[in-house]
Amino acid sequence: MPKTSKYIFITGGVLSSLGKGIASSSIGLLLRQRGFSVTVLKMDPYINVDPGTMNPYQHGEVYVTDDGAETDLDLGHYERFLDENMSKLNTSSAGQVYYDVIMRERQGAYLGKTVQVIPHITDEIKHRMRAFDGKYDIIIIEIGGTVGDIESLPFLEACRQLKHDVGAGNAMDIHLTYVPFIKSAGELKTKPTQHSVKTLMEFGIMPDVLLCRAEVKLGKDIRSKIALFCNVEERSVIEALDASTIYEVPMLFARHELDTIICEKLRLKRSKRDLDTWAKFVHRIKSPRHGVEIAFVGKYNKYPDSYKSILEALTHAGAINDTRVNIRWVDSEEINGDNVNEALAGVNGILVAPGFGHRGIEGKINCITWARTNNVPFFGICLGMQCAVIEYARNVLQMPLANSSEFKKNRFSVIDLLPEQRTITDKGGTMRLGAYPCHVERKSRAYNAYKSEHISERHRHRYEFNNDFRQAFVDAGLKISGTSPDGRLVEIVEIPSHRWFVGVQFHPELKSRAVTGHPLFVAFIKAARTLSSEQV
Ligand code: GLN
Repeated sequence: MPKTSKYIFITGGVLSSLGKGIASSSIGLLLRQRGFSVTVLKMDPYINVDPGTMNPYQHGEVYVTDDGAETDLDLGHYERFLDENMSKLNTSSAGQVYYDVIMRERQGAYLGKTVQVIPHITDEIKHRMRAFDGKYDIIIIEIGGTVGDIESLPFLEACRQLKHDVGAGNAMDIHLTYVPFIKSAGELKTKPTQHSVKTLMEFGIMPDVLLCRAEVKLGKDIRSKIALFCNVEERSVIEALDASTIYEVPMLFARHELDTIICEKLRLKRSKRDLDTWAKFVHRIKSPRHGVEIAFVGKYNKYPDSYKSILEALTHAGAINDTRVNIRWVDSEEINGDNVNEALAGVNGILVAPGFGHRGIEGKINCITWARTNNVPFFGICLGMQCAVIEYARNVLQMPLANSSEFKKNRFSVIDLLPEQRTITDKGGTMRLGAYPCHVERKSRAYNAYKSEHISERHRHRYEFNNDFRQAFVDAGLKISGTSPDGRLVEIVEIPSHRWFVGVQFHPELKSRAVTGHPLFVAFIKAARTLSSEQV
């Protein structure tokens, strides 16, 4: 018998960046800890079909799912908090919605009718919102953007209609808003929240719960004022104070009984909540016994959201190692052979980040030479691994012109396109994307970390290790410790004589989860911690 799924719509008001993704994930986690099956959907009102072609400065990291969808970074939070794999069905943009409707119109599927935002676009949105109907107890739907944006209108209308369709007690609205503290007046101001709720009500949405982001405690008077003016029960006006780590947010919500309120509104019989393991994890993030400093070598350093999943994976690995991971940001575009020593001196580990295009490559290679020759733990991810291969070719194989054909086309392209990538001209969705199996060599650092010969990791890249040079690398001491099961694609390289030097063609950060972390990140931080204890 299919279950009746309950729906929770999450909208945001006043301004962007209030942390709707973290709020949605935290609510998901609390309900999961109460014993319900939960999934989260993200609806993005922008016209891009997916964020795959967007600049990281615009959109932050592109998160890739097992089935190869290039998605919003919030899906990463859902996976990390809920320990649940997301898929293409968990994400929709206005671009996808319109694309599908227009394609159908071209095929004549609307039988000569005028195709309109209501009902055709809204029906398509609702169809997507119901992708998991009956498969989960609770389906959380996060609407991107801020209430009042022109492009979010069809999405809000779809929320309103779906709530009506599923009937009383089966859906609820949570609105995340901001209550600013005005220093000169010494007061919290509720007006922006009132306006935001008023805008929502114009679209027929009456929020059941308000999550109020604030820098100072709300106090009873402010909460009752918001409750009265926004037509929400006072206990459902919940303060969402800044937390020192995002992983603490579920615990703050639990303190205000948010999950109890949700269960009541959705008429769900609830079991006891169990947050013990989570609380221990948070405690280790906040008060670890050790500390390491990791050089993070990348070119989007000014916008850390571009590296969201890596930073979270480092946090998880730190907690597991009872270690605070302090980041030293190293801008690869600023590094050269002369200043690399100064830039890296004293770090306990070096992580070279993924990326696209030639800017910063030489700086990355300089950092890798430093890590290799100083025996400092090195972790290269995707482009970071490709740079490690180039570095090894140049300095160990004595091929000074070695490069990736992404940056320079010559006879020494140790990183190159596979024949099937050479003919592709479209930029959207055409890389090697999603999860692929990998075979791990038993006697290797990688195996020591994974404790398994069979792993699956997610990819997002066009270029690959060039097998023409494979034997030369192996003869020169580079270990190929992970390949595709047919042995054709090189997925992991390492240097056995080095303390910990591992480069991976895939993106392990996309599989790191809160509490359990990711084996390679855990091993990397462990190696860094060992080095730091030797240094004192
Ligand atoms: N630019 C490289 C490629 O396309 C690496 C991509 C990445 O680091 N994700 O292969």
